[in-house]
Amino acid sequence: MSETFEKESLDSKELNFLADVSIGLTQNSDPESIIQALSASFNSIVKLESLNIFIYDENTQKLRDYAKSWIVIDETHDKSYTEKLYNVVKNSKYDDFLINDNSINIKDFWDINKYIKSRKNVIIFPLMKGETPYGLIELTINLTMSDVLTIDFFRALIIAAYQISLKIQNKVLADKMQANIDFHESMKNIAKILETQYDLNYIIPIIGEMIDKFIADHLIYIFLKEKDGYHLVWPLACRDTKILDMVKDVTADSAYVLTNDNKIGLFPLIAANNSILGCIVAHSHTDKLAQNEIDYLDQLTKQSSLTIQRANMYAEVLEHATLDALTGLNNRRQFEIRLKQEVSMANRKQHPLCAIMLDIDFFKKVNDTYGHAVGDEVLKNVASVIKQQLRESDIPSRYGGEEFAILLPFTKLEEAGAVAQRLRAAVEAKHVDLSEVKDAKVKEIQVTISVGVYQYKEGDEPQQLYTKADKALYYAKEHGRNKVIVNRG
Ligand code: GH3
Ligand code: MG
Ligand code: MG
Repeated sequence: MSETFEKESLDSKELNFLADVSIGLTQNSDPESIIQALSASFNSIVKLESLNIFIYDENTQKLRDYAKSWIVIDETHDKSYTEKLYNVVKNSKYDDFLINDNSINIKDFWDINKYIKSRKNVIIFPLMKGETPYGLIELTINLTMSDVLTIDFFRALIIAAYQISLKIQNKVLADKMQANIDFHESMKNIAKILETQYDLNYIIPIIGEMIDKFIADHLIYIFLKEKDGYHLVWPLACRDTKILDMVKDVTADSAYVLTNDNKIGLFPLIAANNSILGCIVAHSHTDKLAQNEIDYLDQLTKQSSLTIQRANMYAEVLEHATLDALTGLNNRRQFEIRLKQEVSMANRKQHPLCAIMLDIDFFKKVNDTYGHAVGDEVLKNVASVIKQQLRESDIPSRYGGEEFAILLPFTKLEEAGAVAQRLRAAVEAKHVDLSEVKDAKVKEIQVTISVGVYQYKEGDEPQQLYTKADKALYYAKEHGRNKVIVNRG
């Protein structure tokens, strides 16, 4: 009994190898470290030159390098070799493998040695899911004249391939599911942010970045339609004239449009009354758009349509509003009106007038780290600190996203500088309470601001009061932030 067992069982060297593979697979989860652990295991029994794992991507019908950023192997290998690999992944059955271009089944293993060469041997195993191969392992093993590849080694290899296959199947599946979960989480978050926002300048980049995150291998463009035609609103430029031409023809009648090669997708943004708001475009130079990406884009476009439509409606209502909805300060429009009034008053009455521009430091990071709800809470708190620190006659406004403008009538530069310092210190000292913010990761947060100050000079255009304070603000940003800079020019 024990003798037969001895004979048929794997040698302890191979068993150790298999145990090592198992441990490596259990202890590692990202592709690079899985490959590293496997390479170390292989190196304990053969002289391994390289180990690669390629996975067949159904969506694009390409073999991709599992550990090297999912790159398509056609780009890194020559044509005849890639054909061979595609063949393995299309036609292999259980226990098939390739030694130096010879297809072998484990049943033939008595003959294996005649296919083995001294020095470089390339061995390829399919990774199987049920009856179908979904990828492969490619080993390059360097043998010296005295080395032999034993049958036991190949038997161990088959078991190892089976283990690796299971691990990767689970991993790829988990990643896919995770991507789906992430997508739906992000959709929920984005819906939440967008519900409370009406400023397209703020909303469009969020939409753009969100799409970029999920449709990573493609260029994304967002166009909005205005009276005189389509305008690119995200990112800053589109050099592709083909896309610019195609966008012109987008109508509200169609669902999304794909080019014949599936490389460009146009997703119209359509309002409830069936008028066209704009268009989201995804473009790839290499891969075609996969079905799941098309589905994501379709959903995102519908969500975006709603948001943009609401923003447009809001903008109409806001034509008549004077206050900013989030902070309760004057809005940008009201700031422009008050700016003109105060400048002409200062001219007539010959009293001093100053402007303070301030901008929250690294605010994007607050949003990115803690979410936009926390960002909004910070904005409200900064606004309330500003209000507390000012006199009745001062005019604070929310100029844009996280920028505030303050007009200080009857105030000279030195005083305005002191006010600015007081504001800067008060914001720095403020602990923004986040206990009321749902899902906030922290209980409180602190931020700083950079501030620019300028005093109106006779002959200045109203706009210059703002631009010169802004120039000082820019200087404060450039020179370390959390600073007040006075522009005396
Ligand atoms: P810097 O110190 O140079 O000013 O860096 P920053 O990150 O503050 O500046 P940047 O202009 O890159 O980022 C401003 C961010 O403000 C980007 C935008 O998403 C965010 N933002 C604009 N409006 C709102 C809003 O109403 N709510 C929230 N939460 N974020 C907003
Ligand atoms: Mg900022
Ligand atoms: Mg800013």
